[in-house]
Amino acid sequence: MEKENEILAKMQAEFAAKFGADAARETRSYFSPGRVNLIGEHTDYNGGHVFPCAISLGTYALVADRQDSKTQIYSMNMADKGVIEFPMSGLSYDKAKDWANYPMGVVKVFEDAGFKAGHGFDILIFGTLPNGSGLSSSASIEVLTALILNDAFDFGLDMVEMVKLSQKAENTFVGVNCGIMDQFAVGMGKKDCAILLDCNTLSYRYSKIALDGASIVITNTNKPHSLASSAYNVRRAQCEHALNELKEVKPELNALGELSNEEFNQLAGAISEPLERQRARHAVLENNRTLEAVEALEANDVAKFGKLMNESHYSLRDDYDVTGKELDTLAELAWQVDGVIGSRMTGAGFGGCTVSLVKNEAIEAFKEKVGKVYTEKIGYAPSFYVANIADGTHRVK
Ligand code: ADP
Ligand code: MG
Repeated sequence: MEKENEILAKMQAEFAAKFGADAARETRSYFSPGRVNLIGEHTDYNGGHVFPCAISLGTYALVADRQDSKTQIYSMNMADKGVIEFPMSGLSYDKAKDWANYPMGVVKVFEDAGFKAGHGFDILIFGTLPNGSGLSSSASIEVLTALILNDAFDFGLDMVEMVKLSQKAENTFVGVNCGIMDQFAVGMGKKDCAILLDCNTLSYRYSKIALDGASIVITNTNKPHSLASSAYNVRRAQCEHALNELKEVKPELNALGELSNEEFNQLAGAISEPLERQRARHAVLENNRTLEAVEALEANDVAKFGKLMNESHYSLRDDYDVTGKELDTLAELAWQVDGVIGSRMTGAGFGGCTVSLVKNEAIEAFKEKVGKVYTEKIGYAPSFYVANIADGTHRVK
């Protein structure tokens, strides 16, 4: 992968080409990571725990102030869309502006919260993350925009506040009903640490990741974009309905993430639909599995963490039904490779990526075996990334 200074130099040249080579102009640069969730999937909107980390793949921005109140934005990843222009006030979703709706959403949510931009910007974007693959390129670009605004106008927001506003932008402006995990992991990431986040209370702590000679390997199914968002909304509705039925027998219950496995087993009869009971079971068991996994990792029991990752995949496949042929194929192949400690789907599912813990000496064999058989079975190749755990969204220069 290219180094940060090489990327920024390339962006400087492109910035001049797109916005004019006014030598006197000062640019600022920012980086916002993607994220990979190690365990705790589909628990965030169920008030449970997640355990993600920010990764060194992410989104860069080069920014210059403008005198007027419009912003011009260009993404080197979306060259065919050209330079997109929008005003810094009174925004609403505009399909024609395509990907720029992500930064526009953040501008709008900031304005609604009383943080009005005093002028516009010229912004050049370059991302090293695959888009739409469950590594949260959307959250990456949202929190990036939030930091650009906070920095330029000294709004004085802390990162958690920016995270919340970014999630609100994705929910209310872009219209994707995501939980808080993605923006939180992107904004609050810390080098070499994963974040144990309670999505019910937003209390969190960092947990140092020491894998004892193993690495985090992300494998992208490269499945073309699917209808994941409608299935996602169905899962959310099923869990919400299950929670409401549980509240009839336990009125003080706020979220599925508050239940122990035993308590869930006792109460589950109150959920009338077997399918909804199954969905809720995943949410409860996955949450408790996440807590157990973090405890194991902190006790240096990497093998147990890996085993719980595998169990997470079974639950997402059998109870939550969000894996599909591509993710199941990747996970099943990974489990057969010597030196793989654990492997599971990560992100919302249906396509996107798996995350695996692989002994360093086994990584090449892992890529070769999984790559070969997956390609034979599915008809196209996966991609592999060895993840470095990185800091959250920050200014570079
Ligand atoms: P994910 O967050 O899993 O990558 P999403 O579908 O939520 O997938 O978000 C992907 C979308 O975010 C892209 O289709 C694009 O609109 C926007 N996006 C992300 N990164 C960039 C980028 N570098 N340049 C332009 N748009 C981006
Ligand atoms: Mg996203």
